[in-house]
Amino acid sequence: MERTAIDAVESAAFGDGVDRRGLTDALDAEHLAVNRYRVPPGEGFPSGLHAHGDQEEVFVVLDGEATFETLVPRGEAGGDPGATEWEAGEVAVAAGEAIRFAPGEYQSGRNAGEAELVALALGAPRDSEDVRIPLACPECGHGYLRPEAGGAGDVRLVCPDCDARNAPEGCPDCGSEMRVALADAERRESPSGDSREVAGDRPETRVVCPYCGAEAATPFRS
Ligand SMILES: [Zn+2]
Ligand SMILES: [Zn+2]
Repeated sequence: MERTAIDAVESAAFGDGVDRRGLTDALDAEHLAVNRYRVPPGEGFPSGLHAHGDQEEVFVVLDGEATFETLVPRGEAGGDPGATEWEAGEVAVAAGEAIRFAPGEYQSGRNAGEAELVALALGAPRDSEDVRIPLACPECGHGYLRPEAGGAGDVRLVCPDCDARNAPEGCPDCGSEMRVALADAERRESPSGDSREVAGDRPETRVVCPYCGAEAATPFRS
């Protein structure tokens, strides 16, 4: 048995006041990743739109409200990486509610409300090696790339199909690390509701700066 106080765990800070407490190691968890987040209004969880091919993720909202952009493959249960139909949307999860993302489902969460968001993020199995970023490979067109640490803290987005190692371009205005988001709301809005089908062999996304909002013309350095 392992027991810990959340406040006893060292805080990892992200962006503007986002506080993450990783409880996985403190609890010696073998098969489950556990993180507690505090996210001020206007800020988000530390990742842009991403999926795990090898992990399911559950968010339990304890306080405030979390808003997730979602990009979900249709068809086979569990997410088919070769899916040709996607559904893009947005879902709000209030305090007292929880949401599960299956392997292969893309999501990115933020605090779009006015109160602080407090949430538990659970992932199983504990470690994920198949992280997917919904950007097409510029060399072969494969539908997603995997982030990999390069030298000197540099990240490369590696194509699992042709092994091209793409260097992401920083924000043209402020140099920050860019994030992937859904194509803008106007383009994804449908008359029937807040989600719509996205045809094609890869999701429709854009690359934006989380700090200044600048949009990238191209996601990669040439
Ligand atoms: Zn490729
Ligand atoms: Zn910027």
